[in-house]
Amino acid sequence: MIHFTSEAKQTMKHLPPQLDSETRRANGMKAVAARRERADIKRRLKEGTLDLRSLLGLESEAKDRMLVMEMLESLPFIGEIRAKELMERIGISSRRRIAGLGVKQRDRLLELVEKNPSRKLLSTLGGVSGSIYGRLFVISGPGGVGKSTITQSLSRFDDFFVSVSVTTRAPRSGEIDGVSYHFVSREDFESRIANNEFMEWAEFAGNLYGTLEHDVHEKRMLGKHVVLEIEIQGARQVRKRHPEATLVFISPPSWEELEARIRGRGSDDDSRIAQRLILAQEELAASNEFDLVLVNTEVAEVVDRLVALATS
Ligand code: 5GP
Repeated sequence: MIHFTSEAKQTMKHLPPQLDSETRRANGMKAVAARRERADIKRRLKEGTLDLRSLLGLESEAKDRMLVMEMLESLPFIGEIRAKELMERIGISSRRRIAGLGVKQRDRLLELVEKNPSRKLLSTLGGVSGSIYGRLFVISGPGGVGKSTITQSLSRFDDFFVSVSVTTRAPRSGEIDGVSYHFVSREDFESRIANNEFMEWAEFAGNLYGTLEHDVHEKRMLGKHVVLEIEIQGARQVRKRHPEATLVFISPPSWEELEARIRGRGSDDDSRIAQRLILAQEELAASNEFDLVLVNTEVAEVVDRLVALATS
């Protein structure tokens, strides 16, 4: 018979119990099922087929173990930054799980989320109650597809504001600083990155392009729908930072048509055209990451769809 010292017994208390392979496998399967259930909950919250009240009423261990932060971030129109603001306001710690929510905290959360239709909630958190916070649209698509013509048409509507990006690219003839872009040096751009001024930024064809968070926020606070015409890496960053944004991909009626438009631009040599065609193919492959794909057969039709979407 083996005798353990009291010290050894003490150490053993802290060791995980030895599980047989059957139990280990069962536990593994349980963990996978719980992960799946959490992913499913998040997806349903995002698409609006599950609301906060119903979720909180669910009898589910997977839900109980979910972080409050995760739950809020998954709600449409909230996202990481607002979820943090909301939790700070109610005094919920960032590591709190749903099961650990106090009754008062739960009621206050429901009150804030339910009383405020999504966009109003944002404006309340942004400090302006009453006014409707404008929506955020991202327009992306391959070069040559006609994004600028679409955004120019949208800018004629009072409710829309087309964001003016910052870029290190040199102005082309006819472009005006502060209207077409804010043209800046690379040094200036990099210091803005360091100051966290950008909602998103990306390097494209050797130049830096970025959207100023503050400018967009200001316009949305005034109730304008802000439109960003940006490339795909930027669109992905907006998706993360502002899950409430609507990402629209503009697609050509056919590959042949796009190729003809790219070749027909006249300003590029053969190697530049070849590069642009490869890039266009890569960009087209990303269309499934967007909320909506609009085929640009008629600019007016695309614009009508976007206007209808903003007012829906
Ligand atoms: P261009 O130099 O032809 O004006 O623009 C080149 C590409 O940069 C286009 O695809 C345009 O949509 C994109 N772009 C313009 N502004 C921004 C921006 O602020 N952020 C990102 N990510 N892309 C931008």
